[in-house]
Amino acid sequence: MSSIPPPSESNEPSSIHPPTPPEPEGGDTVESEPAAEPQKPRKRVGVIVAISLLTAGLIGLGVGLTLTFLELQRAVALIEEQQQELEDQRELIDQKETFSQAATEMMAAAAVFDGLPFSTLVDRSYHETLIERGWTHRWNPTVLRHDIDDVRAETAVLRELAASAEAERASNASGTYYEKITDQLGQGFISTVLDVAPCGKEAWGCVSGDDPFTVYYDHAGTIGQPYMTDFIRAGVAYHEYAHVLQFSNPEQTAVALESFDGNVEHMADCYALTYLSGWKLDHRIWVGSYTYWDISVGYGYTCNSSQRQVIRDWVASLNYEHQPISQ
Ligand SMILES: [Zn+2]
Repeated sequence: MSSIPPPSESNEPSSIHPPTPPEPEGGDTVESEPAAEPQKPRKRVGVIVAISLLTAGLIGLGVGLTLTFLELQRAVALIEEQQQELEDQRELIDQKETFSQAATEMMAAAAVFDGLPFSTLVDRSYHETLIERGWTHRWNPTVLRHDIDDVRAETAVLRELAASAEAERASNASGTYYEKITDQLGQGFISTVLDVAPCGKEAWGCVSGDDPFTVYYDHAGTIGQPYMTDFIRAGVAYHEYAHVLQFSNPEQTAVALESFDGNVEHMADCYALTYLSGWKLDHRIWVGSYTYWDISVGYGYTCNSSQRQVIRDWVASLNYEHQPISQ
């Protein structure tokens, strides 16, 4: 910003003639002062120096201000960075606490099933996986958020399962003897489906390994038949319930099946023979003074006493045991 004053006349190159002394005003004749002329440039230099100093000062001030501004910017950035770190840490702590709370709620929801004879009803290994994931992602709040969602979703599934079992126990929607017995045996965890020959022409009931907690009965196909009694229906329901227990307890069942040469139907019949008082496989149903039906229910083999003990031991071993999961 410094500017140099325009050259004054006195700085112009002089002619080859010597300068003419100025004429005194008023015509008075006085002796001229030769020192007056050289003083002018000194003043201008002074002005130039002053302006230069001022300019330098302003530049210096500008540089100072710029430096101060940069330092301020740097400080603000540092504060923002530290603020972000604090917020991240706070979020991480919040997420860890939220996960811990969600996992506690999930385990509480699973504890409701403690002691039920269905080992596969609650997928404990999935709960272990979920808690393991939370532990692995404990430093990553973004991923931890997904883990929390998964844990909460599983808790919702468990609560829904418990609620629907309670509703199933409390009511007999179909109003049938099949459902009454099945709800009693399965404590509400087994659904009853009544249909026309859902298991083929020969079977009065069946359970599928794909859906081990649903029992299908050929109710419509046998309703009104003179040979069908509630006792026979109970025997069928006990047999099918044994299939539910087989499917939902594969490890214990594999051991027990050795006593039945691997025959799941003989084992299911044996369950009914062991637990349904007075049950047998062959029935004579009188429908008149001289008319009766001979009905054979099951697979033709009546198990012995040692096999019935195997069944009792098997049933005693069936248990979903709730245990806390630790890291
Ligand atoms: Zn069967």
